[in-house]
Amino acid sequence: MTSDIPLTPTIPIAPADFKSGFVALLGRPNVGKSTLMNQLVGQKIAITSPVAQTTRNRLRGIFTNERSQIIFVDTPGIHKPHHELGKILVKNARSTVGAVDLVVFIVDGSVPLGKGDRFIADFLTKTQASVILGVNKIDQRPENKPHILQSYQDLASENHWQLQEFSALQGDRLHSLENALISSLEPGPYYYPPDLVTDQPERFIMAELIREQILLHTRQEVPHSVAIAIEQVKESPEITEVRAAINVERSSQKGILIGKKGSMLKTIGTAARQQIQKLIAGKVYLELFVKVQPKWRQSRASLAELGYSLDES
Ligand code: GDP
Ligand code: MG
Repeated sequence: MTSDIPLTPTIPIAPADFKSGFVALLGRPNVGKSTLMNQLVGQKIAITSPVAQTTRNRLRGIFTNERSQIIFVDTPGIHKPHHELGKILVKNARSTVGAVDLVVFIVDGSVPLGKGDRFIADFLTKTQASVILGVNKIDQRPENKPHILQSYQDLASENHWQLQEFSALQGDRLHSLENALISSLEPGPYYYPPDLVTDQPERFIMAELIREQILLHTRQEVPHSVAIAIEQVKESPEITEVRAAINVERSSQKGILIGKKGSMLKTIGTAARQQIQKLIAGKVYLELFVKVQPKWRQSRASLAELGYSLDES
């Protein structure tokens, strides 16, 4: 009798023509970078929302098929920094570009090329990066406005960039994008086991799913000043108990998050619990509480404590 169950996931040896590499998803906030990454890896690992600046840390999403493995690096949208957290977001995005094989520069194809896109285009032309221009949201493109696509075609030909159009939300024409990516990459090894979709621990994704529900349910001023700390995860065969603290800067924000007789926190908790249950494919008991941590955004020490990666490069 033998039992050959491997204790650690194994990384296969890649055939000679196997392609692999790291691809950064870059673009201004809200163009659909996180939505695209989730679609490509086939699972929700990055949170998405109509509120700008949703993505804070770099998050890797892993796509594997029989001829390739692509590691996508989701970056926070590049924009002008307003405070310490903003500066870290931009700095991290910049250092990402230098470390990848390819950049997909994503733009919103439902509106013409704008100032924010230009800022990123200028930044990219000053780097050595190979770039594919990804024109997203074609499902929302007005039929009678051909100048919108023209503005992106001009940008692509000016810079000798390949252009790909798609809808990340509807999954439209993503095969064409995948093929373009695979063709642009060099032969390489498997970097991760084939069934892994992200390099982030489950705790991190749990915290992100809670933050997403806060973004969706509260007013604009609250979301940018919350940080989630997963304080405890207790697993049993029947249920996983998760205790999480929502850190805010002001007690007024604490009031908003808790809501009348706790109604807001209950709504957020119920929705987040459903998302986390999908993530771990099991029953979840979620306990949320709100803590006031004045000025956490200004303090590098508390940013590190709350799990934000602070690049020194
Ligand atoms: P990010 O800030 O670039 O990561 O953008 P997100 O992925 O968070 O998306 C921002 C918003 O755009 C969300 O409300 C998405 O649902 C929406 N969105 C993303 N891709 C598409 C698309 O292809 N079509 C449409 N109509 N909406 C999209
Ligand atoms: Mg995002």
